[in-house]
Amino acid sequence: MHELSIAQGLIRIIEDELAKRNVKNQVERVVVKAGKLNAIIPDSLSFHFDVLKKSRPQLESTVLEVQEIPAIVHCPKCHRTFELEHAIFACEVCGGPLELGSHGSNDAQSGGSPRATGRELFIEKLVIKDPE
Ligand SMILES: [Zn+2]
Repeated sequence: MHELSIAQGLIRIIEDELAKRNVKNQVERVVVKAGKLNAIIPDSLSFHFDVLKKSRPQLESTVLEVQEIPAIVHCPKCHRTFELEHAIFACEVCGGPLELGSHGSNDAQSGGSPRATGRELFIEKLVIKDPE
């Protein structure tokens, strides 16, 4: 059931962003990137988003698109790096505890420290409708 609070959080972020940019038009589409380890069910998130958006004039026809980011993990015991299929934090070969891997390409944005993958949740894109 944490999709409800995530949907509320998303709407808050979107509204802050609209206020900051002084956008008065409706939002056509929102693309959200969600790390697999958040264990978000996209359909459930969309459902809650659709319920909440109805009371918000700028969001009432917004389409929410959820894109999943795979969780890349590393097993320090058997030195394998692989994509985690389930949110179960154990090596699929030896059962050992895992470390989060990192995206090589995104490191510049996160101030130098390697960026964990799998736990992210952020808004990738806000598409604003043109005024009619
Ligand atoms: Zn292992």
